[in-house]
Amino acid sequence: MKSNIEIQRIEKSKIDSVDFDNLPFGSVYSDHMFVCDFKNGEWQTPTIEPFAPISLDPSSKIFHYGQSIFEGMKAYKDANGNKMLFRPLDNCKRLNKSAERLVIPQIPEDIFMDGLKKLLEVDSDWIPTNEGSSLYIRPFMFATGNGFHASPADEYKLVICTAPSGAYFAGKVKVLIEEKFARAANGGVGFAKAGGNYAAQFYPTQLAIDKGYNQVIWTDDNTHQFIEEAGAMNIFIRINDTLITSPTSDRILDGITRKSILQIAEDNDIKTEVRKISVGEVVEAAQNGNLKEMFGAGTAAVISPIAGFGYKESDFELPELENPFAQILKKKITDIQTNKTEDPYGWRV
Ligand code: PMP
Repeated sequence: MKSNIEIQRIEKSKIDSVDFDNLPFGSVYSDHMFVCDFKNGEWQTPTIEPFAPISLDPSSKIFHYGQSIFEGMKAYKDANGNKMLFRPLDNCKRLNKSAERLVIPQIPEDIFMDGLKKLLEVDSDWIPTNEGSSLYIRPFMFATGNGFHASPADEYKLVICTAPSGAYFAGKVKVLIEEKFARAANGGVGFAKAGGNYAAQFYPTQLAIDKGYNQVIWTDDNTHQFIEEAGAMNIFIRINDTLITSPTSDRILDGITRKSILQIAEDNDIKTEVRKISVGEVVEAAQNGNLKEMFGAGTAAVISPIAGFGYKESDFELPELENPFAQILKKKITDIQTNKTEDPYGWRV
C-alpha cells in the first residue's frame, strides 16, 4: 500500500468566478480532486490534481454493471477560520460497508482520511463561511476495470470532489407516501450508498412530482404498510411529544444525521422511539390531531420539514408549530457542526 500523496496544483484558481453569496447546491466545484486507483490488487499512490473530466474505456464495468458507490459529507469553516468535518470516519466506514456489498475493494481508513484532510487543506479557501453554507464533499468509488463479462472489475477508482454549497431545500416539502414502488428490498442494497439505488428512485419520484409533490416517502417493499425513508433522507415522525424513526435494516441507510439527532434528542429530554411505524398510524394521527411533525434528516438538508403528505388520493396537512422539534434539533446539530457550541460527543473533527 502506497500512501504518500502527490499534489499537482491548478495553474489558475477558478475561485474568483464564484459568487459565494449565491451558491447553488452541489453544482460549483472546487479547484482540486483527490484520486486513488486500485490496480494489480492494491491501492496506488494517491494524487490531488486539478478537478477535470475522467477518461474511461467504454468497456469499464461502471457503465455496464453499475459498480459504483458514494458518500456525502460536509466541511465547515467558523468565523475564526477553523475548518471542521462532522463524524468523517463514519462516512469512511459506511463507504466500506457499501463497498463490501458491491464487491469493491475496501479503502484503508488512513488513505481516505489523509486524502480528505489534504484535499481540504489545498482547497481550504473553498470552504464557505456564510450562514447555512458549507463545502459539500462527494467521495465515490467505481469500477474502471473493463470487460463485458458480468463479474466484478479488477480495477477501481476512488475520487473525492468538493462543491461549495448553499442550503439544499428551500422551504417545507409536500410528500407522497408510496404505494407501489420500492427503493429497496430485503436482501438487497438499500443500506448501501450504491449509485443504482438513486437511479431507481428517479422514476417514482418523477411520478410524484407530476402529481404536485416534492418527494416520495418510501414504504416497505413487501406490504407498503410501513414508513421507511423520505426520499434520500431518513424520516422522523412526531406523534404528540414522541419522535419516532424506523429502525435501520437491509433496506434503510444508516444515516449519520439520523443517529446524531436521536442522540441529541435523547439528551435534550425529547422522547424518541426507534420502531416500525405504519402508514395507518400516521394517517390516524393526522386525522385526530396527534401528528405534530414529520421531517427528513440527512447531510445535504440536515433537517427538511414536511408540510403535508398525500396518501391514496387524500392530502393531509401538518400543523404550524411555534417551536418545532425540527427547528430545535437542527439548531443543536448545526451548532455542533459549525463550532458554535461545545461538542460533548467528540463528533467534530
Ligand atoms: N437515506 C438515504 C437513502 C440517503 O441517501 C441519505 C443521504 N446519505 C440518508 C438517508 C441520510 O444519511 P446521512 O445523514 O448520513 O447523510
